[in-house]
Amino acid sequence: MSVSIRILEIPIAIRALKTASVYYLETDSGKYLIDSGMDYEIETFLKGYGISPGSIDAVLMTHLHIDHIGGSAILRTKYGIQSYMGERDIERVRALQVSPEDFIHWQKDYLSIHGVPSFYLDSMNESHPIFSELKSYLNFDAKPFSDLPDLEKVFHIIDTPGHSPGSTCFQLLDNSGVFTGDHVLERITPNISYYDETEDMLGEYLVSLDRIQELGISRAYPGHGKPFDTLMETVQKIKNHHSERLREVENICKRGPISAYEVAGKMRWSRGRTMESMNIMEANFAIGEAISHLRHSVVEGTIEEQNNGEKIFYQTIQNKSA
Ligand SMILES: [Zn+2]
Ligand SMILES: [Zn+2]
Repeated sequence: MSVSIRILEIPIAIRALKTASVYYLETDSGKYLIDSGMDYEIETFLKGYGISPGSIDAVLMTHLHIDHIGGSAILRTKYGIQSYMGERDIERVRALQVSPEDFIHWQKDYLSIHGVPSFYLDSMNESHPIFSELKSYLNFDAKPFSDLPDLEKVFHIIDTPGHSPGSTCFQLLDNSGVFTGDHVLERITPNISYYDETEDMLGEYLVSLDRIQELGISRAYPGHGKPFDTLMETVQKIKNHHSERLREVENICKRGPISAYEVAGKMRWSRGRTMESMNIMEANFAIGEAISHLRHSVVEGTIEEQNNGEKIFYQTIQNKSA
C-alpha cells in the first residue's frame, strides 16, 4: 500500500491555536482528508494546493470540535463527500442538533452546581462557541468508521477517548506515523474537560495515552502544528503533566470542602493567567480542567465529593497513617 501525505495548515478563528492541520492522503484504496478545518476555507485551500475537492472519497474526523469538522459542510453540500467520525462524538453532535438550547441550559446548571458565579453563566449565551458556530454544527453529518470497510486497508483505527468521548487516532499500517488529532499535540497540553455529569474523561484520556505509547511509533501528524518525531516523549510529558496536576488539585482540596470553581481559581495556569484575567471561554476551559482532575481523583479515591443537593464540594481524603 502506498500512501502520500500532504499537510494543509488552515487559519482558524481560535486565538491560541491560529491554524488547524488538515491532511490529504492519496492511497491505493482511496483519497482521504483527515479533518476539515473550521469553515468553508477548506475548498480554497484544497484548490490552492492543486487538489480537486470532488476527487476526495471521504473525510475522516479525529473528533467533534468545530476547528476540525466545520469545513466538512461545504464538502458534503457542494461535492457530496461523506464524513466519518467516532460513534460517541456522532451521538454528541446529534444531541446538540436536536436542541442547542437544552445543551446550554444543562451546561449552565451543571457549572452553577460547581460554584461558578452567575455573572459568568449569564454571559455564556452570547459568547458560547456552540452558538457562534451553530450553523456549522447543524450542517454536520457523519457516519461511523465501520461504514467504510476500505479504511482498514490504510489504517488501524484507534479509539482514544479523553479530549472528546469519540476522539480517534489513525495509525498507518506500515507504522510510519499516527494521525493524532488533538489527542496528542506537540506544544500544547490538550484540554480535558467534561461532556456529561459522570464520565471520568481524564481517566479515559490516560488510558488512551497508554494506547498510543504502546505503539512505539515516533512520528505524529497532529491536529494543530507540523508533524513531529517525538510522539513517545510527548505522550510521556503529557502524562507527567497530569500527575502533577492531580497532586496540585489534591493539595488545594486539603483546605476543603471547596467547589470546582474555587479549585480552578487556585490552580496555576499557563502564561501567568488568573481566572479574573481569562475571557469566558478560557475560564470555561479552566473550570473543565479542574472538574476532570477532581472527578478522576474521586474515582482514584484520593478526594471525596460532597453533594448537598444544591452544590458540589471536594475535599482531600487525609491519610491518617501518613
Ligand atoms: Zn479539539
Ligand atoms: Zn483542535
